[in-house]
Amino acid sequence: MFSKLIGRRRFIQTVSSALFGIGSFRGLRTTFSFGGTEKAPVVEYRTLGKTGLKVTAVSMGVMNCSDPAVLHRAFDLGINFYDTADCYMRGRNEEMVGQVFKGRRERVLIQTKVHAHDEKRMRASVERSLRRLQTDYIDVLLWHNVHSPEEVSDSDLFEFMAKMKKEGKVRFTGFSAHRNMVALLREASRSNCHDVALVSYNFTHSKDLKEAVSMAARSGIGIVAMKTQAGGYKKEKMAGLTPHQAALKYVLLDQNVSAAIPGVTTIEQIEECAGVMRASFSKENSNQLKQYHSFLQGRICTMCGGCSGECPEGVSYGDLLRALMYREGYGNDSLAKEILQTISKQEIERCSECESCSVICRRGLDIRAAVRRVQSLELGA
Ligand code: SF4
Ligand code: SF4
Repeated sequence: MFSKLIGRRRFIQTVSSALFGIGSFRGLRTTFSFGGTEKAPVVEYRTLGKTGLKVTAVSMGVMNCSDPAVLHRAFDLGINFYDTADCYMRGRNEEMVGQVFKGRRERVLIQTKVHAHDEKRMRASVERSLRRLQTDYIDVLLWHNVHSPEEVSDSDLFEFMAKMKKEGKVRFTGFSAHRNMVALLREASRSNCHDVALVSYNFTHSKDLKEAVSMAARSGIGIVAMKTQAGGYKKEKMAGLTPHQAALKYVLLDQNVSAAIPGVTTIEQIEECAGVMRASFSKENSNQLKQYHSFLQGRICTMCGGCSGECPEGVSYGDLLRALMYREGYGNDSLAKEILQTISKQEIERCSECESCSVICRRGLDIRAAVRRVQSLELGA
Protein backbone atom coordinates (compact mmCIF):
# COMPACT_ATOMS: atom_id res chain seq x y z
CA MET A 1 0.00 0.00 0.00
CA PHE A 2 1.14 3.50 -0.78
CA SER A 3 0.52 4.69 2.78
CA LYS A 4 2.61 1.89 4.30
CA LEU A 5 5.52 2.51 1.99
CA ILE A 6 5.82 6.23 2.46
CA GLY A 7 4.92 6.17 6.11
CA ARG A 8 1.73 7.20 7.83
CA ARG A 9 2.87 10.68 8.78
CA ARG A 10 3.97 11.62 5.30
CA PHE A 11 0.88 10.03 3.79
CA ILE A 12 -1.34 12.25 5.95
CA GLN A 13 0.71 15.29 4.99
CA THR A 14 0.49 14.36 1.33
CA VAL A 15 -3.24 13.80 1.39
CA SER A 16 -3.73 16.99 3.40
CA SER A 17 -1.77 18.97 0.84
CA ALA A 18 -3.91 17.62 -1.93
CA LEU A 19 -7.25 17.77 -0.16
CA PHE A 20 -6.88 21.15 1.42
CA GLY A 21 -4.85 22.88 -1.21
CA ILE A 22 -1.85 23.67 0.99
CA GLY A 23 0.04 24.45 -2.18
CA SER A 24 -2.22 27.41 -2.75
CA PHE A 25 -1.38 29.33 0.42
CA ARG A 26 1.60 31.14 -1.05
CA GLY A 27 -0.34 31.79 -4.21
CA LEU A 28 -3.16 33.49 -2.35
CA ARG A 29 -0.72 36.07 -1.06
CA THR A 30 0.64 36.97 -4.46
CA THR A 31 -0.70 39.32 -7.10
CA PHE A 32 -0.39 39.30 -10.86
CA SER A 33 -1.48 41.37 -13.77
CA PHE A 34 -4.64 40.25 -15.58
CA GLY A 35 -6.58 42.41 -17.96
CA GLY A 36 -4.38 45.40 -17.18
CA THR A 37 -5.12 45.51 -13.41
CA GLU A 38 -3.38 43.94 -10.43
CA LYS A 39 -5.56 41.28 -8.86
CA ALA A 40 -5.03 38.55 -6.29
CA PRO A 41 -5.04 35.20 -8.04
CA VAL A 42 -8.00 33.00 -7.24
CA VAL A 43 -7.41 29.30 -7.38
CA GLU A 44 -10.19 26.89 -8.21
CA TYR A 45 -9.86 23.26 -7.17
CA ARG A 46 -11.66 20.35 -8.75
CA THR A 47 -11.74 16.68 -7.82
CA LEU A 48 -9.76 14.40 -10.11
CA GLY A 49 -12.41 11.70 -10.51
CA LYS A 50 -12.19 8.69 -8.24
CA THR A 51 -8.65 9.56 -7.14
CA GLY A 52 -10.20 12.16 -4.84
CA LEU A 53 -7.19 14.42 -5.42
CA LYS A 54 -7.96 18.13 -5.44
CA VAL A 55 -6.25 19.61 -8.46
CA THR A 56 -6.21 23.18 -9.66
CA ALA A 57 -8.63 23.64 -12.56
CA VAL A 58 -5.79 25.32 -14.43
CA SER A 59 -2.80 23.11 -13.95
CA MET A 60 0.41 23.08 -15.97
CA GLY A 61 1.63 21.07 -18.91
CA VAL A 62 5.40 21.27 -18.44
CA MET A 63 6.23 19.69 -21.79
CA ASN A 64 7.06 22.95 -23.60
CA CYS A 65 8.87 24.58 -20.73
CA SER A 66 12.61 24.57 -20.09
CA ASP A 67 12.74 27.51 -17.66
CA PRO A 68 12.51 26.58 -13.95
CA ALA A 69 11.36 30.14 -13.16
CA VAL A 70 8.05 29.38 -14.90
CA LEU A 71 7.45 26.42 -12.58
CA HIS A 72 8.33 28.52 -9.54
CA ARG A 73 5.84 31.14 -10.70
CA ALA A 74 3.16 28.51 -11.30
CA PHE A 75 3.68 27.24 -7.76
CA ASP A 76 3.46 30.77 -6.36
CA LEU A 77 0.21 31.25 -8.25
CA GLY A 78 -1.18 28.23 -6.39
CA ILE A 79 -1.06 25.71 -9.23
CA ASN A 80 -0.60 22.27 -7.70
CA PHE A 81 -0.73 19.73 -10.55
CA TYR A 82 2.12 19.31 -13.08
CA ASP A 83 2.19 17.08 -16.15
CA THR A 84 5.45 15.84 -17.62
CA ALA A 85 6.66 12.63 -19.32
CA ASP A 86 9.65 10.33 -19.41
CA CYS A 87 10.41 11.35 -22.99
CA TYR A 88 9.98 15.14 -22.88
CA MET A 89 13.30 16.79 -23.64
CA ARG A 90 14.90 13.37 -23.30
CA GLY A 91 14.26 13.32 -19.58
CA ARG A 92 15.39 16.88 -18.84
CA ASN A 93 11.78 17.98 -18.39
CA GLU A 94 11.29 15.53 -15.52
CA GLU A 95 14.67 16.55 -14.08
CA MET A 96 13.58 20.19 -14.02
CA VAL A 97 10.32 19.29 -12.26
CA GLY A 98 12.30 17.26 -9.71
CA GLN A 99 14.74 20.09 -9.04
CA VAL A 100 12.08 22.78 -8.71
CA PHE A 101 9.91 20.81 -6.29
CA LYS A 102 12.70 19.25 -4.27
CA GLY A 103 11.92 19.92 -0.62
CA ARG A 104 8.26 20.66 -1.29
CA ARG A 105 7.26 17.47 -3.06
CA GLU A 106 4.24 16.91 -0.88
CA ARG A 107 2.75 20.25 -1.85
CA VAL A 108 2.40 19.30 -5.50
CA LEU A 109 0.90 16.49 -7.55
CA ILE A 110 3.03 15.11 -10.37
CA GLN A 111 1.76 13.26 -13.40
CA THR A 112 4.20 11.53 -15.72
CA LYS A 113 4.03 8.82 -18.37
CA VAL A 114 5.40 5.51 -19.54
CA HIS A 115 5.36 4.06 -23.06
CA ALA A 116 4.02 0.59 -23.73
CA HIS A 117 6.83 -1.97 -23.76
CA ASP A 118 7.57 -5.23 -22.02
CA GLU A 119 7.53 -5.10 -18.24
CA LYS A 120 11.30 -4.83 -17.91
CA ARG A 121 11.48 -1.68 -20.04
CA MET A 122 8.41 -0.11 -18.47
CA ARG A 123 9.80 -0.76 -15.00
CA ALA A 124 13.14 0.79 -15.98
CA SER A 125 11.29 3.81 -17.36
CA VAL A 126 9.35 4.30 -14.11
CA GLU A 127 12.56 3.98 -12.08
CA ARG A 128 14.24 6.61 -14.28
CA SER A 129 11.25 8.92 -13.81
CA LEU A 130 11.43 8.52 -10.04
CA ARG A 131 15.15 9.35 -10.05
CA ARG A 132 14.74 12.39 -12.26
CA LEU A 133 11.76 13.64 -10.29
CA GLN A 134 13.73 13.11 -7.05
CA THR A 135 10.81 11.35 -5.45
CA ASP A 136 9.83 7.86 -4.38
CA TYR A 137 6.28 8.04 -5.70
CA ILE A 138 4.43 9.35 -8.74
CA ASP A 139 0.94 10.69 -8.13
CA VAL A 140 -0.43 9.78 -11.56
CA LEU A 141 1.29 7.51 -14.09
CA LEU A 142 -0.21 7.45 -17.56
CA TRP A 143 0.30 5.01 -20.37
CA HIS A 144 1.52 7.36 -23.06
CA ASN A 145 -0.32 8.07 -26.30
CA VAL A 146 -2.80 5.22 -26.55
CA HIS A 147 -4.39 4.77 -29.97
CA SER A 148 -6.94 1.94 -29.87
CA PRO A 149 -9.71 0.70 -27.54
CA GLU A 150 -7.84 -2.61 -27.33
CA GLU A 151 -4.86 -0.83 -25.79
CA VAL A 152 -7.15 0.89 -23.29
CA SER A 153 -8.20 -2.53 -21.98
CA ASP A 154 -4.85 -4.29 -22.33
CA SER A 155 -4.60 -6.77 -19.44
CA ASP A 156 -0.76 -6.76 -19.47
CA LEU A 157 -0.86 -3.02 -18.94
CA PHE A 158 -3.22 -3.30 -15.99
CA GLU A 159 -1.07 -5.98 -14.44
CA PHE A 160 1.97 -3.71 -14.68
CA MET A 161 0.10 -0.66 -13.39
CA ALA A 162 -1.32 -2.70 -10.50
CA LYS A 163 2.21 -3.79 -9.57
CA MET A 164 3.42 -0.19 -9.60
CA LYS A 165 0.57 0.76 -7.27
CA LYS A 166 1.18 -2.20 -4.98
CA GLU A 167 4.89 -1.37 -4.76
CA GLY A 168 4.02 2.19 -3.75
CA LYS A 169 5.77 3.74 -6.75
CA VAL A 170 2.53 5.07 -8.19
CA ARG A 171 -0.69 6.25 -6.59
CA PHE A 172 -3.05 6.40 -9.57
CA THR A 173 -2.90 5.33 -13.20
CA GLY A 174 -4.48 6.04 -16.55
CA PHE A 175 -3.73 6.81 -20.18
CA SER A 176 -3.14 9.72 -22.53
CA ALA A 177 -4.55 10.03 -26.04
CA HIS A 178 -4.29 12.55 -28.84
CA ARG A 179 -6.81 11.06 -31.22
CA ASN A 180 -9.65 8.56 -31.44
CA MET A 181 -10.61 9.90 -28.02
CA VAL A 182 -14.35 9.15 -28.27
CA ALA A 183 -13.79 5.42 -28.76
CA LEU A 184 -11.05 5.34 -26.13
CA LEU A 185 -13.11 7.13 -23.48
CA ARG A 186 -16.11 4.90 -24.13
CA GLU A 187 -13.95 1.82 -23.70
CA ALA A 188 -12.31 3.23 -20.57
CA SER A 189 -15.76 3.94 -19.09
CA ARG A 190 -16.78 0.38 -19.82
CA SER A 191 -13.63 -1.33 -18.51
CA ASN A 192 -13.55 0.80 -15.35
CA CYS A 193 -9.81 0.21 -14.87
CA HIS A 194 -8.40 3.70 -15.30
CA ASP A 195 -8.30 6.44 -12.71
CA VAL A 196 -7.36 9.27 -15.07
CA ALA A 197 -7.56 10.05 -18.80
CA LEU A 198 -5.52 12.83 -20.38
CA VAL A 199 -7.14 13.78 -23.68
CA SER A 200 -6.96 16.51 -26.29
CA TYR A 201 -10.06 18.60 -25.69
CA ASN A 202 -10.80 22.07 -27.00
CA PHE A 203 -13.36 24.29 -28.69
CA THR A 204 -12.69 22.75 -32.10
CA HIS A 205 -13.84 19.29 -31.00
CA SER A 206 -17.19 17.63 -31.64
CA LYS A 207 -20.26 17.13 -29.48
CA ASP A 208 -19.42 13.40 -29.52
CA LEU A 209 -16.22 14.06 -27.61
CA LYS A 210 -18.06 16.20 -25.08
CA GLU A 211 -20.49 13.33 -24.51
CA ALA A 212 -17.67 10.78 -24.22
CA VAL A 213 -15.95 13.03 -21.66
CA SER A 214 -19.22 13.18 -19.72
CA MET A 215 -19.61 9.40 -19.83
CA ALA A 216 -16.04 8.84 -18.65
CA ALA A 217 -16.38 11.40 -15.86
CA ARG A 218 -19.62 9.73 -14.69
CA SER A 219 -17.76 6.42 -14.52
CA GLY A 220 -15.28 8.02 -12.11
CA ILE A 221 -12.40 8.75 -14.46
CA GLY A 222 -10.64 12.03 -13.75
CA ILE A 223 -10.55 13.96 -17.02
CA VAL A 224 -7.50 16.09 -17.70
CA ALA A 225 -7.67 18.22 -20.83
CA MET A 226 -4.66 19.01 -22.97
CA LYS A 227 -4.28 20.90 -26.26
CA THR A 228 -6.91 23.22 -24.81
CA GLN A 229 -5.77 26.02 -27.07
CA ALA A 230 -5.85 23.93 -30.20
CA GLY A 231 -2.18 24.19 -30.98
CA GLY A 232 -0.93 27.38 -29.36
CA TYR A 233 -1.60 29.61 -32.36
CA LYS A 234 -1.74 33.28 -31.53
CA LYS A 235 -4.14 36.04 -32.56
CA GLU A 236 -4.83 39.54 -31.28
CA LYS A 237 -6.54 40.07 -27.95
CA MET A 238 -10.33 40.18 -28.10
CA ALA A 239 -12.48 42.07 -25.56
CA GLY A 240 -11.23 41.15 -22.14
CA LEU A 241 -9.83 37.70 -22.73
CA THR A 242 -7.01 36.72 -25.01
CA PRO A 243 -7.90 33.95 -27.49
CA HIS A 244 -5.91 31.55 -25.33
CA GLN A 245 -7.83 32.54 -22.23
CA ALA A 246 -11.16 32.20 -24.01
CA ALA A 247 -10.17 28.76 -25.30
CA LEU A 248 -9.05 27.61 -21.87
CA LYS A 249 -12.18 28.98 -20.21
CA TYR A 250 -14.35 27.20 -22.75
CA VAL A 251 -12.87 23.86 -21.68
CA LEU A 252 -13.25 24.68 -17.99
CA LEU A 253 -16.94 25.51 -18.46
CA ASP A 254 -17.34 21.75 -18.80
CA GLN A 255 -17.49 20.61 -15.18
CA ASN A 256 -16.66 17.08 -16.30
CA VAL A 257 -13.11 18.32 -16.83
CA SER A 258 -11.12 18.10 -13.61
CA ALA A 259 -8.13 20.06 -14.84
CA ALA A 260 -6.70 21.59 -17.96
CA ILE A 261 -2.96 21.52 -18.52
CA PRO A 262 -2.09 24.24 -21.03
CA GLY A 263 1.46 23.86 -22.25
CA VAL A 264 3.24 27.10 -21.35
CA THR A 265 6.79 28.29 -21.88
CA THR A 266 6.92 31.70 -20.19
CA ILE A 267 5.92 33.37 -16.94
CA GLU A 268 3.54 35.64 -18.85
CA GLN A 269 1.76 32.61 -20.28
CA ILE A 270 1.30 30.85 -16.93
CA GLU A 271 -0.05 34.09 -15.45
CA GLU A 272 -2.37 34.46 -18.42
CA CYS A 273 -3.66 30.91 -17.93
CA ALA A 274 -3.95 31.08 -14.12
CA GLY A 275 -6.12 34.18 -14.45
CA VAL A 276 -8.74 32.14 -16.29
CA MET A 277 -9.81 30.18 -13.21
CA ARG A 278 -12.26 32.79 -12.00
CA ALA A 279 -12.68 34.83 -15.17
CA SER A 280 -16.20 35.03 -16.55
CA PHE A 281 -17.07 33.94 -20.06
CA SER A 282 -19.46 36.21 -21.91
CA LYS A 283 -21.58 35.78 -25.01
CA GLU A 284 -19.05 38.04 -26.70
CA ASN A 285 -16.25 35.67 -25.72
CA SER A 286 -18.24 32.80 -27.19
CA ASN A 287 -18.61 34.70 -30.47
CA GLN A 288 -14.93 35.56 -30.47
CA LEU A 289 -14.04 31.96 -29.94
CA LYS A 290 -16.08 31.08 -33.01
CA GLN A 291 -14.01 33.63 -34.96
CA TYR A 292 -10.85 32.09 -33.56
CA HIS A 293 -12.11 28.68 -34.67
CA SER A 294 -12.55 30.04 -38.20
CA PHE A 295 -9.03 31.48 -38.07
CA LEU A 296 -7.66 28.02 -37.20
CA GLN A 297 -9.64 26.16 -39.87
CA GLY A 298 -7.25 24.72 -42.38
CA ARG A 299 -4.23 25.72 -40.32
CA ILE A 300 -4.14 22.83 -37.87
CA CYS A 301 -5.06 19.22 -37.48
CA THR A 302 -7.44 19.10 -34.52
CA MET A 303 -7.00 15.31 -34.35
CA CYS A 304 -10.70 14.85 -34.85
CA GLY A 305 -10.09 11.38 -36.26
CA GLY A 306 -12.25 12.14 -39.31
CA CYS A 307 -9.64 10.90 -41.79
CA SER A 308 -8.36 8.04 -39.69
CA GLY A 309 -6.72 5.23 -41.69
CA GLU A 310 -7.08 6.92 -45.07
CA CYS A 311 -3.43 6.85 -46.08
CA PRO A 312 -2.99 3.94 -48.50
CA GLU A 313 0.71 3.81 -47.59
CA GLY A 314 -0.05 3.28 -43.91
CA VAL A 315 1.87 6.41 -42.93
CA SER A 316 1.36 7.81 -39.41
CA TYR A 317 0.45 11.19 -40.81
CA GLY A 318 -1.37 12.08 -37.58
CA ASP A 319 1.98 12.08 -35.78
CA LEU A 320 3.54 14.09 -38.61
CA LEU A 321 0.79 16.69 -38.21
CA ARG A 322 1.25 16.73 -34.45
CA ALA A 323 4.96 17.40 -34.95
CA LEU A 324 4.00 20.28 -37.23
CA MET A 325 1.69 21.70 -34.58
CA TYR A 326 4.52 21.72 -32.04
CA ARG A 327 6.77 23.47 -34.53
CA GLU A 328 4.37 26.05 -35.93
CA GLY A 329 1.98 26.47 -33.01
CA TYR A 330 4.20 26.20 -29.98
CA GLY A 331 7.50 27.02 -31.69
CA ASN A 332 9.01 23.90 -30.10
CA ASP A 333 11.29 22.34 -32.71
CA SER A 334 12.95 19.94 -30.33
CA LEU A 335 9.63 18.35 -29.35
CA ALA A 336 8.62 18.20 -33.01
CA LYS A 337 11.85 16.36 -33.77
CA GLU A 338 11.30 13.99 -30.85
CA ILE A 339 7.94 13.01 -32.33
CA LEU A 340 9.48 12.56 -35.76
CA GLN A 341 12.00 10.20 -34.26
CA THR A 342 9.17 7.90 -33.20
CA ILE A 343 8.09 7.53 -36.85
CA SER A 344 10.05 5.10 -38.99
CA LYS A 345 12.34 6.53 -41.69
CA GLN A 346 10.62 4.27 -44.21
CA GLU A 347 7.27 5.89 -43.47
CA ILE A 348 8.70 9.37 -43.88
CA GLU A 349 10.35 8.32 -47.13
CA ARG A 350 7.13 6.79 -48.44
CA CYS A 351 5.36 10.04 -47.69
CA SER A 352 8.11 12.09 -49.40
CA GLU A 353 7.82 10.00 -52.54
CA CYS A 354 4.02 10.03 -52.65
CA GLU A 355 2.90 12.22 -55.55
CA SER A 356 -0.57 13.16 -54.37
CA CYS A 357 -2.11 12.86 -50.95
CA SER A 358 -5.35 10.92 -50.93
CA VAL A 359 -6.17 11.80 -47.33
CA ILE A 360 -8.94 14.40 -47.22
CA CYS A 361 -9.05 16.62 -44.17
CA ARG A 362 -12.65 17.36 -43.12
CA ARG A 363 -11.51 20.74 -41.85
CA GLY A 364 -9.75 21.98 -44.93
CA LEU A 365 -6.14 21.36 -43.94
CA ASP A 366 -3.87 20.79 -46.92
CA ILE A 367 -2.28 17.60 -45.63
CA ARG A 368 0.16 17.27 -48.50
CA ALA A 369 1.55 20.77 -47.88
CA ALA A 370 1.60 20.14 -44.13
CA VAL A 371 3.57 16.90 -44.34
CA ARG A 372 6.00 18.60 -46.73
CA ARG A 373 6.67 21.27 -44.11
CA VAL A 374 7.30 18.59 -41.48
CA GLN A 375 9.69 16.79 -43.80
CA SER A 376 11.76 19.94 -44.12
CA LEU A 377 12.05 19.93 -40.33
CA GLU A 378 13.19 16.31 -40.39
CA LEU A 379 15.89 17.25 -42.87
CA GLY A 380 17.00 20.03 -40.55
CA ALA A 381 15.92 22.90 -42.82
S1 SF4 B 1 1.21 12.20 -48.90
FE1 SF4 B 1 0.76 10.04 -49.49
S2 SF4 B 1 1.90 8.81 -47.98
FE2 SF4 B 1 1.76 10.90 -47.15
S3 SF4 B 1 -0.09 10.90 -45.87
FE3 SF4 B 1 -0.74 11.58 -47.92
S4 SF4 B 1 -1.40 9.67 -48.96
FE4 SF4 B 1 -0.18 9.06 -47.18
S1 SF4 C 1 -6.25 15.95 -40.82
FE1 SF4 C 1 -8.27 16.94 -40.69
S2 SF4 C 1 -9.81 15.29 -40.76
FE2 SF4 C 1 -7.81 14.38 -40.32
S3 SF4 C 1 -7.72 14.22 -38.08
FE3 SF4 C 1 -6.75 16.17 -38.63
S4 SF4 C 1 -8.40 17.70 -38.57
FE4 SF4 C 1 -9.39 15.68 -38.59
